[in-house]
Amino acid sequence: MGPEAAHLRVRLTPHAARLAKRSSAVAAQLLPSDREQESDAFESTVQPCAGKADSMVPGFERLYEDRVLLRVTDACAAHCRFCFERNEGEENGFPLGLHGTWEIPASAVAQAVERLRAAPEVRSVTVSGGSPLLLGEERLLGIVRALADVDTIRQIYVAMSRPIFTPELWTSSLARGLAALSRSDPSHPRDSRRVAASVHINHPDELTEAPEVVEALDRFVRAGVPLYNQTTLLRGINDEADVLEDLHSLLVANGVLPYYLVHCMPIRGAGHFRTTVQRGIDILRCLERSSGHERPHYIVVTEAGKVQLCSTSALRYEAIEGRRFVVLPTPYPTASFLRYEVTDRLPPLCRDECGLITARYLDGAQDVPVGTTGAMSSPILSAPSPVMGSQ
Ligand code: SF4
Repeated sequence: MGPEAAHLRVRLTPHAARLAKRSSAVAAQLLPSDREQESDAFESTVQPCAGKADSMVPGFERLYEDRVLLRVTDACAAHCRFCFERNEGEENGFPLGLHGTWEIPASAVAQAVERLRAAPEVRSVTVSGGSPLLLGEERLLGIVRALADVDTIRQIYVAMSRPIFTPELWTSSLARGLAALSRSDPSHPRDSRRVAASVHINHPDELTEAPEVVEALDRFVRAGVPLYNQTTLLRGINDEADVLEDLHSLLVANGVLPYYLVHCMPIRGAGHFRTTVQRGIDILRCLERSSGHERPHYIVVTEAGKVQLCSTSALRYEAIEGRRFVVLPTPYPTASFLRYEVTDRLPPLCRDECGLITARYLDGAQDVPVGTTGAMSSPILSAPSPVMGSQ
C-alpha cells in the first residue's frame, strides 16, 4: 500500500446527479468510496502514452505515425472516479487535469494546423478533452473546421466525453455543423473525409434510465455523424458478459457502434475499479456469441500506446517490485515511437524486443466487488483464474 490516494472532488451535473440516484451502476462511477484510499503508489507512476505531448504546441500530441490528438480543454462537466487524469498531478486536492481552467488558445490551433500540413502521413485527428463540448458550439466547430481544411486529413473524431453529463449540449445544430464537414468525393475517394464522434458509455442504465441521452445520440445519428462508443471495463459495474452484451445491443439499436472496451488503466485511488486483464479476455470470449458489430475491440492502454487483445490471447506475466504485470508485445516500432517522444528513451515499463516495443502493464484484481471496504485481495504474482460469463 502506498501513500494516501489523491482526493478527487465530487463534481456532478444536474443530469448526472439525477441519474446517479436512479442507478447504482452510475452512482458507483461518479460518487466517492472509502476504497479510493487504497492507493498503490505504483499506480500514480504509470502514465499511458507518456511523453507524447508537443511542448511547442499546447494540446498537440503525436500519438502514432498516422494519428494525432488535439486536446482542446482540460475541463469536464463532471468527474468519473476512475478518470485517468487523476494521475496528472494535483493542486489544492484537485487534479490539475480536471481543473477545468485550460482551453486551447487560437494560436495553438493555428500551430497544430501548420504541423499537420507539414506531416501528410497523418490521416486522423482526435479532438479531445476533458470535454470539447464545454468550449461551446461555435468554438468547437471552428476548431474542427480548421482541421478539416488540411487536405491530407481523412478522419476527424470529436471525443464527446460522456453523454450522461450534458446531453443538452448535443444539439442538432452542432450535429449538422459537424456532418457538414464530412466530404465524399466520388472522383477522388482519397480526398474524402469523415467527421465522427466518439462517446463514453459504460452501462445499460446510461441509456435505459436516461431518455435525454437517447435523444442526444439520435440528433447526431439523424444528422449523419457516425458515433463510436468506448466503454471502460469496471470491476463490479460492467465486468460481466451479460451486462456488456445488453449494453452493446442497446448501443447498436441507438445508432452507436460499440468500438472499444478499454481495460481500466492504473489510476491512483481507482484500483478497486480494475479487474484483471484475463477477465476481460474471458468476457470477450463470451461476447463472440453476439453478432459481429456488437463486439468491441478489447484494448489495454500501455505507455507505448493501445494494445489490442483477442479472446485467444495467452497472457505472460512478470513480477516487478512485488506486483503482477502483464507482458504485452505491441505493434509499435521502437524507432518510430522515439521519433515522436519528447525524450530519447522508452518509458520505464517498455523494452525494445527486435525493433518492436514490449510493454509491462500493471494487472488488476478480480475478487472484491466494488463497494466493500477493506484491503484489496489481489492475488499478486499468481496467474488469475478465468471467470466466464456472469457471476
Ligand atoms: S469523461 Fe473522461 S475525461 Fe471526463 S472525468 Fe470522465 S473519464 Fe475523465
